Amino acid sequence: MSRRVTIGSVKPWAVAAALRRCDLLFALLLLACVLSASARADEPDVIPRREAKRVLVLHSFGREFRPWSEYARSIKAELERRSPWPLDIQEHTLLTARFNNPGPEAPFIEYLASLYQGSLPDIVISIGAPAARFVQRYRGKLFPGTPMVLTVVEERLVNRSDLTGDDVVVSVRNDFMAAFKNILQVMPDTRTVAVVIGASPLEKYWIDEVARELEPLADRLTIVWYSDLSFEEILKRAAKLPPHTVLFWGLMSVDAAGIVHEGDIALRSLHAVANAPIFSYQEPFFGGSTVGGPMHSTAETTQKTVDAAIRILGGERPSSIKYQPIGFAPPKYDWRELQRWGISESNLPAGSEILFREPTMWESYRWQMLLITAIILVQAGLISGLLHERRRRQIAEVESRQRLAELAHANRYSAVGELTTSIAHELNQPLGSILTNTETAELMLKGASPDLDEIGQILADIKRDDQRASEVIRRLRSVLRKSPFEVQNLELNGTVWEAIGLAAAVADGRRITLSYVPAISDLPVKGDPVQLQQVILNLIINAMDAISDADMKKREVSVTTYRAGNQAEIRIADTGPGIAAGDLANVFNPFFTTKPEGMGMGLAIAKTIVEAHHGTMAAENLPAGGALFTVRLPIMR
Ligand code: ADP
Repeated sequence: MSRRVTIGSVKPWAVAAALRRCDLLFALLLLACVLSASARADEPDVIPRREAKRVLVLHSFGREFRPWSEYARSIKAELERRSPWPLDIQEHTLLTARFNNPGPEAPFIEYLASLYQGSLPDIVISIGAPAARFVQRYRGKLFPGTPMVLTVVEERLVNRSDLTGDDVVVSVRNDFMAAFKNILQVMPDTRTVAVVIGASPLEKYWIDEVARELEPLADRLTIVWYSDLSFEEILKRAAKLPPHTVLFWGLMSVDAAGIVHEGDIALRSLHAVANAPIFSYQEPFFGGSTVGGPMHSTAETTQKTVDAAIRILGGERPSSIKYQPIGFAPPKYDWRELQRWGISESNLPAGSEILFREPTMWESYRWQMLLITAIILVQAGLISGLLHERRRRQIAEVESRQRLAELAHANRYSAVGELTTSIAHELNQPLGSILTNTETAELMLKGASPDLDEIGQILADIKRDDQRASEVIRRLRSVLRKSPFEVQNLELNGTVWEAIGLAAAVADGRRITLSYVPAISDLPVKGDPVQLQQVILNLIINAMDAISDADMKKREVSVTTYRAGNQAEIRIADTGPGIAAGDLANVFNPFFTTKPEGMGMGLAIAKTIVEAHHGTMAAENLPAGGALFTVRLPIMR
């Protein structure tokens, strides 16, 4: 069997030689050719060359006239797709059909005659009724014996008397009643239909047909014809249509002013200005301007036309191919128009197809929306978790303050316990004086001439001593008060004074000099006065304990307050032995004590109280001996 002469007959030695030259790329190319040659080995060597088939397509109005242009485009594409032969498609346009007063056709006939003389086309396909009539009328002169497919012709316009055995008719049936019933079904309130139709002879023919066909609807609908108007005027009227009116787009090839409207520009202009929906029965107008309904579909007409053409080109006799007129395809609607005119989908006939539905946000941005939802959910979870945590913390804080207040109260009792002796002494003194003074006054009153001035002096002393005793009791009560943690604005110098007042008697009793040097300026802080007094009292008692325990010679506790920037400082220094170096880090730990009877809670509670006031507390040893405790609290702005 002989082989097709191709580059695939390259010999293996050529590949080897190329490889030797290290020309790898070239070798690979050659290898690919060899492989492709072997893959085609079982194909026949020579496909018999098929003669090209000459197809003449005759348009009625022009190549770009809708709806015919769309049918023609679809037919040509399908023919080329399905034809087993190469095709030579030649297209001509019967220009005369687009004039309202058609001129002579003779020059066009002459042109075609000279073009096809001696080499007739294999088939003639006419698009639309005017083209069909033309080829039927002049076939004898132009295309004798050539088979013809007369397509996209309305049933009523088929010239049956001139049909021959060489013709196939692919006709359609315009069912205007169905088209108008569709309008009434989807928009039941419609009272007027304005029919947009041009003024060419073909269009004029249809005006009468439509009017006749719609007679049964006369009592339901008023039909207004725009065939006598220029398109410009039609646009003006369409913009101001009364309510319950719709537009019906028939045809607009040539308007009453003689202006030709190609493509779908006219329809689009109408759509742009119209204040009512537009209906049409042609699919080529659907998809942007018209609402939809039952329409002629290009697909069915195309398929029948191409079937017939291929069978004829394949040698079948045209007379053996017969078709029924093609009716409207099942209804289709444009979702955008339904939305625009508020047409409910429930008004559409069963089985309708809705096209151009705009995807919802969810459909368009599915994964983005999912992501955002997930983020929002995670965030919401985090926020609620944090809120829950915050709430728990707040509850815990309140509870811890409560505990602190209770602990502090207990600790105050123990501190005051230490003061008992000196407090008793402090109270005894004024009470003793009061008694002595009262007895003296009584004696004086029993005398013959009591010295009233003297008695007045004695009474003043009694009053002063009473006040002194009351003051001791007031201080004691205030420090022993069981109160919740209560923040208020206070002046720190005064608070320190109160604590010093309580401790002064103890200092006296222990022969310790307790000095206080307050800051020159006021120290406004926010805090609980009872708890802050407790802190100061604790530190003073510890300082006095240190001095007493060690039995020091120099027995001094000095309390000073300062303002250091935006902080208030209380310093309590003593002349005791100081804190052992190893203990400095532990003194604030709970239960750390070096005292035989100590509890080790005083400094731990004091530090907690200071920290609850957003302050700090530190302990250090003084260079000259003795310990220094510093409390720092934020100054209120
Ligand atoms: P307690 O007084 O019951 O021991 P504190 O918490 O008040 O409990 O004190 C803890 C320890 O800190 C004391 O036992 C003592 O060792 C040490 N300390 C406190 N203040 C001073 C001070 N001014 N000088 C020396 N040591 C001190």
